[in-house]
Amino acid sequence: MRIACPCCGERSLDEFVFLGDASVMRPTADCADREEAFHAYAYLRRNVAGPCDELWFHAAGCHAWLVATRDTRTHEISAVRLAHEVARERDTTRGASGS
Ligand SMILES: [Zn+2]
Repeated sequence: MRIACPCCGERSLDEFVFLGDASVMRPTADCADREEAFHAYAYLRRNVAGPCDELWFHAAGCHAWLVATRDTRTHEISAVRLAHEVARERDTTRGASGS
């Protein structure tokens, strides 16, 4: 498997470290049902069969945090974006929805 880093171009999987599901959002300290929300954040994960966003770190390259959209059935990667840009989009979406 190869990952197309937005900064370095296509590189071998050996250069990256997998860090898990990128869709997990840390709950705020003042959210309702705080204990349940933090339990879910720390321990509960989906087992997706299909496209999912994953967090990767380019450890042997530019040290960028990346969000790769990978199909878990075929390992095909359809998109790779810088994690800080994805986080910024999520913040914008959260602000627009008011939650
Ligand atoms: Zn890179």
